[in-house]
Amino acid sequence: MQISEALKKATKILYQKIESPRKESEKILLSTLKKDLTFLILNEDFKLTQEEIDIFFKKVARRASGEPLEYITNQVSFYSKIFFIDYGALIPRPETEILVDFAFQEILKLSPKNQIQILEIGIGSGALSISLAEKLENANLDFKIIGIDISQNALKIAKKNIDNFNYSSKIQILQSDLFQNLHSQFFDLIISNPPYISENLKGKLQKELEFEPEIALFSGNDGAELFRRLLKEFFNRPEKILICEMGFDQKKIIQDEVCKLANTDYQLIFYQDLANLDRGFILKKKINS
Ligand code: GLN
Repeated sequence: MQISEALKKATKILYQKIESPRKESEKILLSTLKKDLTFLILNEDFKLTQEEIDIFFKKVARRASGEPLEYITNQVSFYSKIFFIDYGALIPRPETEILVDFAFQEILKLSPKNQIQILEIGIGSGALSISLAEKLENANLDFKIIGIDISQNALKIAKKNIDNFNYSSKIQILQSDLFQNLHSQFFDLIISNPPYISENLKGKLQKELEFEPEIALFSGNDGAELFRRLLKEFFNRPEKILICEMGFDQKKIIQDEVCKLANTDYQLIFYQDLANLDRGFILKKKINS
């Protein structure tokens, strides 16, 4: 079977099941052949081996059954880079790119003199920390990131990406449930895209989410269980700035929780995503020192 025929057949299988059947068929074929788009354009009549055909159509069937393309190709695009991704970690979403920009801006405001210490809670694939690391490096800033995750599977994926992008001396990973294994380290900034979806919505959301690790998505009845634990610990620690992604409908919960737990003056700012939905917050303790 030639490439052109295989693509036509795959597009037909995916037709009306997903938004861009032809484009995704091409991506699945390229990941099967481990080639880039130029190869495909120049070799429409290239004859596939039986093994390549089998692997390709198995992957197409996975996509037809609702599995995210990213897990099938083991690739995800985030902040202009392609990261490795697999079942153990949440697929980074475009809206999380905003968090990278806010984190970077907050670091610039610190006008740092010493090495900047950053903590990412729930590093997942590592895409967020690596994207931030690249921006800091381009700005000639000296920094160190510690990325923690409760999931060993996620940490394996983060490690692979950190190694691939040569950041193993700048980003260190550690298995930890929130601050549990961090002891006395101090961080100038804490960032997190924690699980924030309500447990009650399990199985009621897009099919694609069923393939992602539950631990990276769901958190208690109102989706804010982890926020409650995180905020409680934050106010008991010396760190001053926390930037988090959150659900579009969680502004009130976060406001109430911060108000309840705060033991110092604070500033709480919410930011919106490209669809203009509330998507995250920047929380700063105001301590005169
Ligand atoms: N933004 C993701 C979604 O709605 C959820 C990510 C998360 O829980 N951190 O699919």
